[in-house]
Amino acid sequence: MLDRRTKEQLLSEIAAEVRACTRCPLHATRNRAVPGSGDPDARVMLIGEAPGYYEDQQGLPFVGAAGQLLDRLLARAGLVREEVFIANILKCRPPKNRDPGDTERAACAEYLDAQIGIIQPCIICLLGRVPLQALIDPDASVTRIHGSRIRKHGMLWIPLFHPAAALHQPHHMPALETDFDRLADALRDVTDP
Ligand code: SF4
Repeated sequence: MLDRRTKEQLLSEIAAEVRACTRCPLHATRNRAVPGSGDPDARVMLIGEAPGYYEDQQGLPFVGAAGQLLDRLLARAGLVREEVFIANILKCRPPKNRDPGDTERAACAEYLDAQIGIIQPCIICLLGRVPLQALIDPDASVTRIHGSRIRKHGMLWIPLFHPAAALHQPHHMPALETDFDRLADALRDVTDP
């Protein structure tokens, strides 16, 4: 188990590498890479798809309306943003927010794998279809398994709808809220089994 200071150091080295990365063509169209941010000792890590317009402008994950909704949902689980770590499958924005390509994903995977390995969270929330299919099962459906608990590599993985989906399709909001209530239950179970 790494101490907090070492984790901070290693995560900041990864962030510096990401900001200078030219491993895939997305480096040419990004404004700012978004390495991810949060508590190096986070018990909960949230993984989204890729930076959007505002994230690309600011270099931070989940800003704008989806970020505000995420903060409200985290509060349902008794969490604040400063105590989780938020990252994406891709660290640079795909043009017009298209899905990540396979070669882009493969080129970027090492960064996220390293972040997970350093932080060693108890729970990883997968926000939407892209991270679920990239990290758990390429055929998995978030509609079918959202809110469930998957055990893998000694951690609990929980697929959730992406907050942006609930902004665009409000009928997803009750399910998203219920899933964050389930995250609170899962967190209690891993903290005090
Ligand atoms: S998306 Fe990932 S692999 Fe591609 S340039 Fe950005 S940091 Fe590098």
